Amino acid sequence: MATNRTFTMIKPDAFEAGNSGAILKMIEEAGFKIVAMKATQLTPQLAGKFYEVHKERPFYADLCTYMSSGPIVAVILEKDNAVEDFRTLIGATNPANAADGTIRKIFAKSIEANAVHGSDSDENASIEGAFFFSMAERVA
Ligand code: ATP
Ligand code: MG
Repeated sequence: MATNRTFTMIKPDAFEAGNSGAILKMIEEAGFKIVAMKATQLTPQLAGKFYEVHKERPFYADLCTYMSSGPIVAVILEKDNAVEDFRTLIGATNPANAADGTIRKIFAKSIEANAVHGSDSDENASIEGAFFFSMAERVA
């Protein structure tokens, strides 16, 4: 089912560097509306669950350690064509390959500490939003 929502996290490197506000400003200026938002910190177990699709990858253990290393901001966003447009706004996974002007090009430190997460499909956007937020925690 197509939706107009996506899910993002401001990852621990960007939160720690004090870039949450600047990143949210770029997101809003790109036309995304905030549907739900909170600062929280994942346990290694919850980070493992969130990135379970990558559990066979060599970087999985490091990724779980990194994603639970400090606070994150979890956000549900709304915009026409949200998933695809948000992936364009954040740029490639590896900031070395990210286009100029993208969030990862500007703020990411490395392929792992790459500032933000972006859902890769409407289905995953819905699953990931539900991972962090109940219905009562969202704008209708
Ligand atoms: P995300 O799902 O966080 O939006 P992505 O979809 O661009 O990122 P994925 O392939 O889903 O990329 O990888 C998930 C995350 O795992 C990456 O954002 C990054 O933090 C980490 N990662 C991916 N590839 C590597 C790698 N080769 N080495 C270290 N970490 C990696
Ligand atoms: Mg991904």
